[in-house]
Amino acid sequence: MPELPEVEVVRRGLQHSVQGRRIDAAQVREPRLRWPIAADLGSRLAGRTVRAVDRRGKYLLMDVGEGTLIVHLGMSGSFCFLSQPRPPTRHDHVDLVFAHGTLRYHDPRRFGAMLWHDPAHGPALAHPLLAGLGVEPLSGAFDGATLYRATRGRRAPIKQVLLAGDVVVGVGNIYASESLFRAGIRPTTPAWRVGRERCERLAAAIRATLSDAIARGGSSLRDFVASDGASGCFQLDCFVYGRAGEPCRVCGEPVRVLRQGQRSTFHCVRCQR
Ligand SMILES: [Zn+2]
Repeated sequence: MPELPEVEVVRRGLQHSVQGRRIDAAQVREPRLRWPIAADLGSRLAGRTVRAVDRRGKYLLMDVGEGTLIVHLGMSGSFCFLSQPRPPTRHDHVDLVFAHGTLRYHDPRRFGAMLWHDPAHGPALAHPLLAGLGVEPLSGAFDGATLYRATRGRRAPIKQVLLAGDVVVGVGNIYASESLFRAGIRPTTPAWRVGRERCERLAAAIRATLSDAIARGGSSLRDFVASDGASGCFQLDCFVYGRAGEPCRVCGEPVRVLRQGQRSTFHCVRCQR
């Protein structure tokens, strides 16, 4: 599943390939994504210019002036920009056709979403899918103090609170394990027991981990393809994630794995307290 760094890499790719360009036509071959694609999407997009490509959490927001196309890649969605025409294959569900090429959406599992937001219903960021999201981890609004305030009274393990998305958005399973390792915090610690200084360390670790992954073009994920068509498979140099039984890169202790809410958590019992 694409996580925040992958989505940010896609956003940058889209910005590069289609921002400022006019959509000549939109072809929907398969409207049955997580929610059905509006039947009139093609007529709404045709003739519009892509003003900006933004991101909120794992949602991509393509502003076309008279509205916003909200896209989520789901489990297996990807974009590819084709400068030369290529016949669609089975899971190529949507094409946005530009004069200089075609932006193609591919999604074998169809858990992705492509929703039209009309500005008559308010700003796109107030859309029901976006309004409740936590603070952006890479924005100036996220720091140790924010994290500290938001975790008071939360009895759930700190890792679960990071994954929940209402405190900070976009810290998925890989990045939660890695950030907690970098901050030296045991993932099972109740969130309210992580003190102010450790919240500072954790916020800094989250920002550093996500920034590293973005710089590497997103971590290695099978279904992820960057929007320029190149594979986004740049393996994040994980400290703990996916390394159960292997020696901790810092202390040599074997990395342990435990289950938290159906997800695997990787950690080092010596480095994380
Ligand atoms: Zn260690």
